[in-house]
Amino acid sequence: MGIPIYTYDAVIVGAGLAGTAAARELEKAGKKVAVITKLHPLRSHSGAAQGGINAALSDEDSIELHEFDTVKGADYLADQDVVELMCKEAPETIRWAERMGAAFSRNEDGTIAQRPFGGQSSPRACYAKDRTGLTLLQTIYEQALREGVTFWDEWYAADIIYKEGKVSGVVAFNIRNLEYAIFNAKAVMFATGGYARAYKINSNAHANTGDGLSIVARHGLPLEDMEFVQFHPSGLSGNGVLISEAARGEGGRLLNSKGERFMEKYAPNKLELASRDVVSRAIINEIREGRGVGPRKDAVYIDLVHLGKDLIMERLPELRDLAITFLGLDMVKEPILISATAHYSMGGIPMDKDGHVRKNNTEFVEGFYAAGECSCSSVHGANRLGANSVLEALFFGRHVGQSMIQDLNEGITLRKATEDDAKAMIDEITLTLNRNGTDTVPGLRDELQQSMTDNAGVFRTEETLAEQVNILKELRRRFHENCRIDDKSKIFNTDLQEAIELGHMLDFSLFIVESALARKESRGAHFREDYDTRDDENFLKHTMAYMDENGNITLDYMDVTLGKHELKERTY
Ligand SMILES: Cc1cc2nc3c(=O)[nH]c(=O)nc-3n(C[C@H](O)[C@H](O)[C@H](O)COP(=O)(O)OP(=O)(O)OC[C@H]3O[C@@H](n4cnc5c(N)ncnc54)[C@H](O)[C@@H]3O)c2cc1C
Repeated sequence: MGIPIYTYDAVIVGAGLAGTAAARELEKAGKKVAVITKLHPLRSHSGAAQGGINAALSDEDSIELHEFDTVKGADYLADQDVVELMCKEAPETIRWAERMGAAFSRNEDGTIAQRPFGGQSSPRACYAKDRTGLTLLQTIYEQALREGVTFWDEWYAADIIYKEGKVSGVVAFNIRNLEYAIFNAKAVMFATGGYARAYKINSNAHANTGDGLSIVARHGLPLEDMEFVQFHPSGLSGNGVLISEAARGEGGRLLNSKGERFMEKYAPNKLELASRDVVSRAIINEIREGRGVGPRKDAVYIDLVHLGKDLIMERLPELRDLAITFLGLDMVKEPILISATAHYSMGGIPMDKDGHVRKNNTEFVEGFYAAGECSCSSVHGANRLGANSVLEALFFGRHVGQSMIQDLNEGITLRKATEDDAKAMIDEITLTLNRNGTDTVPGLRDELQQSMTDNAGVFRTEETLAEQVNILKELRRRFHENCRIDDKSKIFNTDLQEAIELGHMLDFSLFIVESALARKESRGAHFREDYDTRDDENFLKHTMAYMDENGNITLDYMDVTLGKHELKERTY
């Protein structure tokens, strides 16, 4: 077949903040690293992060408060040892980024400026105007290039090489010309980002199709806490494009059709700055009860006019542009229309606090690591706080990179890859290209996204979730038996890529729905109308879900690591 085999110490899939930070650390320590990314690194979704990155820097704040807010925000499902690690290292993570050249917005006295975010006891989100992610990504990418990391841009990682409990590489194809290659390595890291594209209304980039999750799950490895999908309160009405929490952090008010500041009813103390799950449910509730606004009455207002033009132009210029571009509304002059939008995945590839991927509750996969949004450490539990996920990507990217260096130094052997390792990928691509039928990728994807929004969204019941299991099984059957691709060429075949991505979305969506169906309680972002309270006695545990060869899901559970922050009822 003549497929090239490239050998590295470490191969990283994903060039967002997590992957790039890890790569930079590894290369700096003298390891030979390849980063495979289906996008140009600077187009990774990390670059879209607007609002900020948390760290307890000010005198009024403390690491313990940051921990407490994170654990409470998580509705007590977070593993407290991991939360402690991340919060403790957050200030150093900011200083590290700064030393490398990231320009944070500053106060008049020269200290790093921090803005309030939802569920936080103190203004804690460091920012670079409303372009925080892009500023950080540019900085880290520049430094990774400087160290000599090899980036394989616009290469699509299709599978891992997983044999005898060990991962020893990745098989991939060049999106430009469908050339195949094998990347053989002692250590492999997945940093493939989030998956909110499985929902109709979402805030995510088109590339956020959760590939990494399904690639891992298809080998019978578990996915953790997949039922916890974060719906951000403020997506632009109709298309879900994000209006960062910075808008509420800076003082934006939510209003219904009666002009009421309705958060007074739902979170009397924190109002608009309650945690995201609470605000999203409040918005959907107002709309359901007939107090929505806009042409379809399916939105509420966020009003920022009182902040004044100067502050908006100084701190929220991108958000203003987005609302003008997509809705024709200028937040300097009038309130804009928003509603909840699928945003972030709390669950993912289970890992320990040093990034080792779990095979089950007690064992680990040799040579395999994860970091960033695709992973579940679990630092966010049932609901993540705003500005904790850029922190997670940057901190764990760096930290897991260091843990890989340590493991490599202690000696991981290379299992040599052969051309045979690419066979499954090539067979799947050939089959996908040659399949004929009446269904199309965009058609099936629309049905998936609409049904996930309707049945596994902000509010869920036994009935909607059970219905969604059936819908997903039928969509998967149609995808495998009856979905055609019109473009048969090898040059930038986006039809083929989108088909592969749809296959991924159909698989991990079943994990979301089956895990949600079994969790008969409401916790954080998972709200069951038929079980509307938290049930610590039966459900203070992580879901570990596995897929068998026939595509069926089985569920297991894993203990939560508790700690000094004791279980309490969550109010804001
Ligand atoms: C609009 C928006 C605003 C946000 N704002 C904030 C904020 O202000 N603060 C905050 O804390 N969080 C925010 N978040 C969340 C946060 O930005 C992300 O969780 C975080 O940046 C994810 O980083 P990552 O490195 O894990 O993945 P990403 O940055 O998403 O990168 C994923 C990488 O994986 C690659 N990839 C995926 N699949 C494949 C494949 N099959 N083959 C090859 N490459 C692949 C992609 O090319 C990409 O390089 C925001 C998210 C969105 C969508």
